[in-house]
Amino acid sequence: MTAPGGAPAASGTDAASRRLAPRDDVALMDGYHSPQVDVAVRLNTNEAPEPPPAAFVEAVTRAVGDIEWHRYPDRAASGLRRRLADLHGVRPEQVFVANGSNEVLQVLLLTYGGPGRTAAVFEPTYALHSHIARLTGTRVATGERDADHAVDPAEVERVLAEARPEVTFLCSPNNPTGGVESAASVSATLGLAPGLVVVDEAYSQFAPWSAMDLVDEDVPLVVTRTFSKTWSMAAARLGYLVGPSWVVAELDKVVLPYHLDAFKQIAGTLALDHVDEMERRASHLVEERGRIEAGLGELPCRVWPSQANFVLFRPESVAGADVWRALLDRGVLVRDCSSWPRLDGCLRVTVGTPAENDRFLAALTEVLA
Ligand SMILES: *Cc1c(COP(=O)(O)O)cnc(C)c1O
Repeated sequence: MTAPGGAPAASGTDAASRRLAPRDDVALMDGYHSPQVDVAVRLNTNEAPEPPPAAFVEAVTRAVGDIEWHRYPDRAASGLRRRLADLHGVRPEQVFVANGSNEVLQVLLLTYGGPGRTAAVFEPTYALHSHIARLTGTRVATGERDADHAVDPAEVERVLAEARPEVTFLCSPNNPTGGVESAASVSATLGLAPGLVVVDEAYSQFAPWSAMDLVDEDVPLVVTRTFSKTWSMAAARLGYLVGPSWVVAELDKVVLPYHLDAFKQIAGTLALDHVDEMERRASHLVEERGRIEAGLGELPCRVWPSQANFVLFRPESVAGADVWRALLDRGVLVRDCSSWPRLDGCLRVTVGTPAENDRFLAALTEVLA
C-alpha cells in the first residue's frame, strides 16, 4: 500500500498487519460446514426432493410484477403473519417471521441470550443451536442424550438445575438423530426450565406430534418452523416461530428493520395456498422413509428410528467415512456425521424421490457387500 503523496506506507501498515483480528471467541470458532457437491443424487441436507408445485411458482412469478421495488417492504410482514397465525390457530402477534429459522434462532439468542446468560442443549443435536449461542456471546450448557439419542428426564433436571439457563433448546424431531420429543418430555422440561423453552420443529410435518399444541400466552414456550424442508423452499430462506406475544414483541425490537424482503413475504404467503399438497408430499416422504429404514434394516447397519425426512445409520463393518466416500463415487451424496462428537461412524441420509432412494439403497448394498 502507498501512503498519500506516493511515499511507501510506514512499517506496521503492510497488508498483513492491517488485518484486524476478530473477537477472541470468534477467532477460536469453526464455521458451519455442509459440503455442496454437484452429484446426481443429493441426499445430504434434508431438503425436499421436489420443487414446489408449478401453480405456486406461477403465482409468485405473477405477483413479482406488482412489487413496489422502490419502497421498503411491509416491516411487520403483516399479511404473512396473519396467514401463519390462521394456519396454527393463534393470533398474528404470536408469530415472528425471519430469513430462515436459523435467523429466528439468532434473534431469539440476541434477545434472551448474550453475555452472562446461558443456553442449554442436549447433544447430539442441531449444531446451529450451540453455534449461534456462542456467536451471540451466550454460554452453552451441554446435556447428554442417552444411547438411543433420547432426552433423559434426569439429565434435563441435572442440567437445568446446575446451569439455570435462560434458553433451553429441544429439537423435535431431532436433527441428526430423527427421534421426536414426547408431549410428556416437553411438558416436563417446561416445568423445570427457569427461562424460555425453544422447540425447533424444522421437521414436525413428518412427525405424529407437535409442541405447537402447548403454545399459550402464559407458557414460556416457542416453537420454530421453516419453509426450507416440507415446503420445498430452501432457496427462499424463510422461517418463523409461534409463541407468546410478549416474546414476539421483544424479538421485533431486536431484528433489523425491514429484514424480510417483499419478494419473500409474497412467496411465503402464496405457499400457504398449497397446504394440502404439501401435506400429501410429507406423507409420501414418510412412506419412503419407511422403505429406507426397512432397506437399511437388511444391511449390516445400526439404524435409529426416525420421525423426520432423514435417517441416521451406522455401518457396522466399514468405517463411516469410507462408506460416505464409496457412496459419493457411486453418485450418491449423504451427510458424513462420522467424525462428529457422539456420532462415531454415523451417516445421515435424506429421504429423496423413490428413484433416488432406490439408487441410495442399491449403492449402499454394493458398498457393504
Ligand atoms: C434445516 C434445519 C433448520 C432450518 O433452517 P432454515 O434456516 O430455516 O433453513 C432449523 N433447524 C433444524 C433442526 C434444521 O435441521
